[in-house]
Amino acid sequence: MFATDDTIVAVATPPGHGGIGVVRLSGPKAQAIAEVLLGRTRLEPRMATLATLLQTVAGDTERIDQVLATSFPGPSSYTGEDVVELSAHGSPVVLEGIVDAAMRAGARLAEPGEFTFRGFLNGRIDLVQAEAVADLVNAVTPLQARLAYDQLDGTLSTAIRAIDATLFDLIARLEASLDFPDEGYHFIDRDQAATAIGSITERLEALLSAGRRGRVIREGRQVVIVGNPNTGKSSIFNGLVGSGRAIVTNVPGTTRDLVTETIDVNGVPVRLVDTAGLREIGDAVEVEGVTRARAALTVADLALLVFDRSRPFEDDDGQLLAETSSTRRLLVVNKGDLPSAWVSDPLVAAPGRVVQTSATADGGLEPLREALAATLSVEEVSRDPVAITNLRHLDLLEQARGGLERAGPAIAAEVSEEFVVADLQEARAALEEITGRRTTDDLLRHIFDRFCIGK
Ligand code: GDP
Repeated sequence: MFATDDTIVAVATPPGHGGIGVVRLSGPKAQAIAEVLLGRTRLEPRMATLATLLQTVAGDTERIDQVLATSFPGPSSYTGEDVVELSAHGSPVVLEGIVDAAMRAGARLAEPGEFTFRGFLNGRIDLVQAEAVADLVNAVTPLQARLAYDQLDGTLSTAIRAIDATLFDLIARLEASLDFPDEGYHFIDRDQAATAIGSITERLEALLSAGRRGRVIREGRQVVIVGNPNTGKSSIFNGLVGSGRAIVTNVPGTTRDLVTETIDVNGVPVRLVDTAGLREIGDAVEVEGVTRARAALTVADLALLVFDRSRPFEDDDGQLLAETSSTRRLLVVNKGDLPSAWVSDPLVAAPGRVVQTSATADGGLEPLREALAATLSVEEVSRDPVAITNLRHLDLLEQARGGLERAGPAIAAEVSEEFVVADLQEARAALEEITGRRTTDDLLRHIFDRFCIGK
């Protein structure tokens, strides 16, 4: 998909002004191009060297900036090729100037993800790790970052490769038995093979169940706040957001009249949506707001139904309860700091956990925060050692399990080993697609499209 024999260059730090900015070069001419830019002949490998960056425009040589240059000769570099990193002052003008100068000296502008792609092609990292690089760069909570780093570190790759190796061994024995049928000798008998298949299935199961929980961390959750006017929805929203945990994201397409903010609930990014309620009472604008609130509710993982305990329970409240009966929800009884106007408990028979809050009292939202964490099963997720967060990996693990699920009964039912081997091969193929031992251009394009330039 990309040319791989030329030398690429890009700014590796985010756009904008900063203390330093890094330009990265990778490829066979990285060193030579750096030498031209720096007007010197040798960079000590893996040693930061202070140097002046020059450019020649219309025959005149001018100085662009003073930089720290570090050379990482291949193959033990990020890409597996010769890499040079130039740390300059973090000005977009300076950094673009360096990139231009490198391009005049023979480099090509890198595509998004191209450095990591080369690392993958050169066997420095596998596909799981390449994807983890993108996840780590894009992480918005510390837990997301930690899980991404675990995958980058190879935790998941190691687990998958170990299963793959066991499968390989099992297939080899079954095939050997097939190849020498006349000898009357079996390299593995059916009982042993069935046991082996069972234990591999269990290992896949363990990864899969950790994965279902791990998804939550990567994808986050959507929580929608609904309730009648003045029950305290906005105060609760602000209280949850305003405790210094708000995360700044640039989620596109945020609806104009639904206020949303992403908060960190025990490491899981939770997109909190404040609505104007579900009752169509006002003008066209309000009706539109209600339509959007309903839409948000249909995709929500959880609804917070807010009630005001200081006022009698009204028909509108009852209607809200009925309307959301099939939604996963928490029943938030707010204004707990005021005397209660509820004579009996109107929520006693309603499905959903009841949480008492006060949005205005100190610490009055703590019970809600705890209930959110518990309901979104956040605690459980954070303790998983190998949490799979990527849907592609989960799908392929399911496929691998599918192969094993066919192979297990087949071996027990005395079906020819040939068919069992075919099922097991299918399972292996799925596992190898996870780590990228088998892959297609389309898949690679899809994966590396998520990257930013310079990574
Ligand atoms: P919304 O219309 O549901 O978004 O409600 P608001 O958040 O705007 O709150 C309506 C009024 O109730 C405001 O004056 C808030 O200060 C007040 N309020 C909200 N929560 C509480 C609470 O827990 N206790 C008390 N005493 N007042 C609250």
